[in-house]
Amino acid sequence: MLELNLGGVPEEQGSERPEVENTIIVGSGPAGWTAGLYTARANLNPLLITGNELGGQVSLTYEIENYPGFPEGLSGPELVERFKQQAERFGCTVEYDHVVEIGVDAYPFTVRTASGQEYRAKSLILCTGASPRKLNVPGEAELTGRGVSYCATCDGFFFKDKDVIVVGGGDSAVEEGLFLTKFARRVRIVHRRDQLRASKILQRRAFENPKIEFVWNTVVTAIHPGPDGSVARVTARDVVTGEERELTTDGVFIFIGHVPNNELFQGKLHLDPEGYLVVDRKMQTNIPGIFAAGEIMDKVYRQVATSVGQGAAAGMQAERFLAETEAEGYPGIHVDPREFPDPREEWAQEPVTS
Ligand SMILES: Cc1cc2nc3c(=O)[nH]c(=O)nc-3n(C[C@H](O)[C@H](O)[C@H](O)COP(=O)(O)OP(=O)(O)OC[C@H]3O[C@@H](n4cnc5c(N)ncnc54)[C@H](O)[C@@H]3O)c2cc1C
Repeated sequence: MLELNLGGVPEEQGSERPEVENTIIVGSGPAGWTAGLYTARANLNPLLITGNELGGQVSLTYEIENYPGFPEGLSGPELVERFKQQAERFGCTVEYDHVVEIGVDAYPFTVRTASGQEYRAKSLILCTGASPRKLNVPGEAELTGRGVSYCATCDGFFFKDKDVIVVGGGDSAVEEGLFLTKFARRVRIVHRRDQLRASKILQRRAFENPKIEFVWNTVVTAIHPGPDGSVARVTARDVVTGEERELTTDGVFIFIGHVPNNELFQGKLHLDPEGYLVVDRKMQTNIPGIFAAGEIMDKVYRQVATSVGQGAAAGMQAERFLAETEAEGYPGIHVDPREFPDPREEWAQEPVTS
């Protein structure tokens, strides 16, 4: 039997890895760290593979004000460091590597990384999150890093006394636009509608900020360099009149949502039409023993607090799965991903047991 321990620090944490891991967590955002914490506290000696973005989207965030327990708010990188310390304290092993392939058609599962490591695991917790959506307009790719950015926290400093455009109208766009006013002399928020989607509190702050201007009903259709090779202007189209005009600017910050990081799972696990992993109420994908948490399976809430909750649930379910498998054997990889129904449609009727 697996030895399960729901409380306290495990007595010994060996640095040598077992031949077959109990659980591998893929991703180091809030969901991943929380799954790491819960499975470590359950004495499962988990291995967490960080991916290329240590800390995930939170580490791109200037300030988190809505994560409970921190009434003064705290910076994204500080929260990540706290998540990491807590998971490691209970024995979660962290590998700074990126997963390039998972094998799901034999049990134990396999995980291959960019550094050439190959692991076998009795369970997987997939927390690969999401990445910024691109505008996909001419000039965007070529000028990324030369005035085009998806992270105000990372790049805002380079725009001291400059003029910047923020594209988007949701929470991230407005929050990051407000942050950019610390550096830039003017921040124009270009939004395709005539009102913001951002929360009321952020909207009020933005409307009251003298450095922020709004360009309504407008989309950016191209980004152009100046003689020095960095951003100089954008082409903007009014979606109501169809009129095009040029806006001069030093930088373009794009916050128009996210796409799920699902490359590893395509053709292997059931994805919904928008590319999010489909899980049941126990956070399990269509393959027994493979769980998912955070923005890779949640396109609705997209918050640190909700991702943390899903990571905790996935960690607890992985622990139960391992105990059951130890007692009864692996139930088998018997579900064809293409035939797996979307269980969310059945949630209303289905009571949660165990
Ligand atoms: C600018 C901005 C501001 C935000 N502000 C707030 C806020 O104020 N409050 C709030 O609650 N939320 C905020 N959010 C949202 C919050 O950051 C996300 O909801 C949360 O980070 C999602 O967590 P996650 O663990 O699902 O994934 P992510 O944070 O997306 O992390 C994904 C992780 O997966 C890893 N990964 C991806 N592919 C692989 C691979 N192949 N191999 C290994 N690892 C991989 C990445 O390296 C990364 O570590 C903000 C987001 C942004 C972008």
